[in-house]
Amino acid sequence: MQFNPRYPLLSPELFHHQMPVPLKGAKAGHFNAALADELQWSEEDKAQWVEICSGQKTFAEFEPLAMVYAGHQFGQWAGQLGDGRGLLIAQILDKNNQTIDLHLKGAGLTPYSRMGDGRAVLRSVIREYLAGHALNAFGVASSNAIGFTSSTQGIQREKMEPGAMMLRTSDCHIRLGHFEWINQYQPELLPEFIEKCIEWHYPECLEAEQPVLAFATKVIQRTAVMIAKWQLVGFAHGVMNTDNLNITGSTLDFGPYGFMERFRPNWINNHSDYQGRYTYQQQPSIAHWNLWTWLNNLIPLKKDSTEKEQFKEDLAQCLEHYEPTFLEHYKDGLNQKIGLPSFHKDSFDCGMAFLRILQSEQLDYTQSFIRLQNKDYDAIKDDCLDRRQFEAFLAQYESIREQQDIDELDAAMHMANPHYILRNHMAQKAIELAERDDFSEVDRLFKLLSQPYLKQPDLEQPEDLAPLPNDVPEVMVSCSS
Ligand code: AMP
Ligand code: MG
Repeated sequence: MQFNPRYPLLSPELFHHQMPVPLKGAKAGHFNAALADELQWSEEDKAQWVEICSGQKTFAEFEPLAMVYAGHQFGQWAGQLGDGRGLLIAQILDKNNQTIDLHLKGAGLTPYSRMGDGRAVLRSVIREYLAGHALNAFGVASSNAIGFTSSTQGIQREKMEPGAMMLRTSDCHIRLGHFEWINQYQPELLPEFIEKCIEWHYPECLEAEQPVLAFATKVIQRTAVMIAKWQLVGFAHGVMNTDNLNITGSTLDFGPYGFMERFRPNWINNHSDYQGRYTYQQQPSIAHWNLWTWLNNLIPLKKDSTEKEQFKEDLAQCLEHYEPTFLEHYKDGLNQKIGLPSFHKDSFDCGMAFLRILQSEQLDYTQSFIRLQNKDYDAIKDDCLDRRQFEAFLAQYESIREQQDIDELDAAMHMANPHYILRNHMAQKAIELAERDDFSEVDRLFKLLSQPYLKQPDLEQPEDLAPLPNDVPEVMVSCSS
């Protein structure tokens, strides 16, 4: 590993040095060897992955630390939060010389644990491990993980569950909530903090006439792209609090997430989300709300009142980039998924018409696009109650495609429509086996989701492709993790 410890250069008020506390009876869960190679792990590091991913081995080059941040949870100011059960145990360079954080989740109590126990359970670790891997394979910017370990130590949740640790990787653990903490508790730290954020994550903005505005615009645009990609792959994050979004627009901290099965835009997968704040269809506007909340924390950079007024207007202007960036990526992505050209004026409407059919007929999102890709139109029609609605769509769809280079559109479709997503029941089966020390299903799903756009008949099982039967409601996932 090549270390690049830079977070400890920040003001000491922003973190607390803390060593991991290993769980009893730590044992191997799963290891992502390809990612370890990308992160330049040596053979010796790889041989010690269980010790590293269970907090038994730390590095002389980096003193582990917990970050402090704040946040708005479910729209309400939550005050100080922080790494309550995760530690930054290293910052290392990947093969492209990009700095990557190694964050050990479930590593024990920190000063920011509040009422929590500092631990993570195997169930939630496996869910995050597989979903991070899948999102990366879908081409969605996201955290990932080198590996996870299980243990013989029981952790109390609704019931007793095995404790586990996961070594998460991300290009950034600086959250929108970091700025909220600074603004609320130590506003004098803001100028230097923002300078470091720009230098580390958006160095190109240093050249801009107004680096802070250039930086804000980039954060907004990257977030918009991430959300567009979530929508396209049918990912519902589940807990889009301001402390769970980072400044590089890469997916982070998705606990009670879900991948959409039947197309129900108002589906709630997090059972603690009583008001449906974080439903799939709300995600674009919630991200906008989070970014607006975040921008307010930059205002104190200006002290003079006239300057401050101008700065507020400029920041509001930055936020104007959100919607067009989101729409551009979402529209292009939907057109690609459905196999229609972006330049045609009716393509997007035709895509939306298809989504309306999926919604009214409660069809499986992933499988329906694959059927369209396979030109298996009868299979979709057979599942529709209102067949005329589908026929009307198909007539328009084929009339647009008729005039185009079909091979090119089909090739694009193959790169945009996964055969496999992580359905809740797939993750659940892997978890139940893992809780009995059988990690074979985690391994199978890991391999399957490594290449989700490639049909893998030897590896897949029928349930991987199937929508849940109509009389089975979607799983709502517990927030307790
Ligand atoms: P999350 O919604 O999982 O991102 O967590 C929100 C906040 O609660 C973060 O500050 C976490 O560090 C903290 N937290 C969640 N679970 C625990 C736990 N078991 N022990 C300590 N802190 C926790
Ligand atoms: Mg969090």
